[in-house]
Amino acid sequence: MGYNILFVTPEVAPFSKTGGLADVSASLPKALKRLDHRVTIVTPLYRCVSQEPLKVTGLKVKVAMREREIEGTFLKGRASGGVDVFFLKRDEFYDRTYLYSTPEGDYFDNGERFIFFTRAVLEAVKEGGFFPHVIHCHEWQTALLPVYAKTIYRDALSRTPVVLTIHNVAYQGLFPEYILPYTGLPRGLYTMEGLEFYGKVNFLKGGILFADLLTTVSRRYSLEIQTPRYGYGLDGVLRKRAGDLYGILNGVDYREWNPSRDVHIPARYNRRDLSGKEVCKRALIEELGLAVSPETPLIGVISRLTDQKGIDILIKAAGGIVDMGAALVILGEGERRYHRRLKALSGRYPGRVVVRIGFDVPLAHRIEAGCDMFLMPSRYEPCGLNQIYSLRYGTIPIVRATGGLDDTIRDYDPETGRGTGFKFRRYSTKALLEKVRFAIEIFRDRKRWSRLMKEAMGEDFSWHRSTRLYEEVYRRAIEGLKSGM
Ligand code: ADP
Repeated sequence: MGYNILFVTPEVAPFSKTGGLADVSASLPKALKRLDHRVTIVTPLYRCVSQEPLKVTGLKVKVAMREREIEGTFLKGRASGGVDVFFLKRDEFYDRTYLYSTPEGDYFDNGERFIFFTRAVLEAVKEGGFFPHVIHCHEWQTALLPVYAKTIYRDALSRTPVVLTIHNVAYQGLFPEYILPYTGLPRGLYTMEGLEFYGKVNFLKGGILFADLLTTVSRRYSLEIQTPRYGYGLDGVLRKRAGDLYGILNGVDYREWNPSRDVHIPARYNRRDLSGKEVCKRALIEELGLAVSPETPLIGVISRLTDQKGIDILIKAAGGIVDMGAALVILGEGERRYHRRLKALSGRYPGRVVVRIGFDVPLAHRIEAGCDMFLMPSRYEPCGLNQIYSLRYGTIPIVRATGGLDDTIRDYDPETGRGTGFKFRRYSTKALLEKVRFAIEIFRDRKRWSRLMKEAMGEDFSWHRSTRLYEEVYRRAIEGLKSGM
């Protein structure tokens, strides 16, 4: 028998997206549906959501927040694979230009915005709007959901376990104490053993403590976050719950990310016929105004521009990469200081380093298809999707061996000719440059390179395996709750 799964997420592609979570929120429910589960996604109705017409459902909730009673309504649409999506409409909270933050910083009322979202979902469950066997929620934005499920919504959810997935432990939802009355949670929870974290309220910490089961997005990251270096202060709490924490690698949707069917690229190709990739490369060189020949090794970067992604060592390495005879294409959006430094870089190496600031999904596809290599020098990387997409596009990943990057890329061995990419361990410009130099050396040997491309393109990270693992986690959560009653 399939489960009814309520999938509560702050972003879902193609409606709203700031990163990999949006892709996973679209592709995992679709894969679960294929295994005969009934999945319902719930997410906020942001301004960027466009799918006409969304259906009015009649499902309406009221949430008490301090002295106000705030109403929200649910509209219904369809996500990829025919999965139902319910959008929570409350314009004062979600009808904004960005999802969580502007280039100047976070919205001041993010706490209230996501408390409201979380409680509106629970009110809807309580009122019989949804009938889940299990609730699967994601990230700090929904991390209070398990806390509510075990406290003020205990009666309504006594048979419904909550699974929380951590996609990035560095984002925790930290708010000053003033937020407590807005949560409606008992004050007694505000202790070191509870939601308190160095004088603030930490939503993710609450989720980690109260969720029935926890998952994160690669095995390696599930171990890393239990250490001080990667745990961002929550390593101790995570170690406490180590027995309930599963590392399940994100899968990808090869209908969206596949050079043999990609609608965004100028020519399609596959493992047996790579001629289309050359067309894509020439077109990209032309489109971006690169002053290079088609033989030049072209290295792509598509990234949120934050410390996590290793942008500082990338910027320092750029000159060296150009000196090696390669060219760089960078697409990203994020912190202002990186926008500035990257623009300066492209000014210094015109035609050799091209920088596009912005969020542009079709361009991201064209970069995947048109480049020879894809660089991800991340300081840490919970899973990472772009390196997995790159494999399928024959765009060889050069990655720092951390988290999901380490789990998904096999380091090229020149002795055997086996491997799918290039990995460096130390977080430094020097280590990055050494790997790029080695990759370019192999690139110049056409025979070795095409073998490497074919091996990379043959990798399979579809949801098949990981969906079974989530199914198992849901089963354990449901059984666990039954046996604990
Ligand atoms: P994260 O979730 O940490 O940002 P992932 O590698 O898991 O990193 O996922 C990033 C996703 O966001 C990919 O689908 C990638 O193509 C997309 N992406 C990131 N930056 C941009 C951008 N500037 N324009 C278009 N897509 C982007």
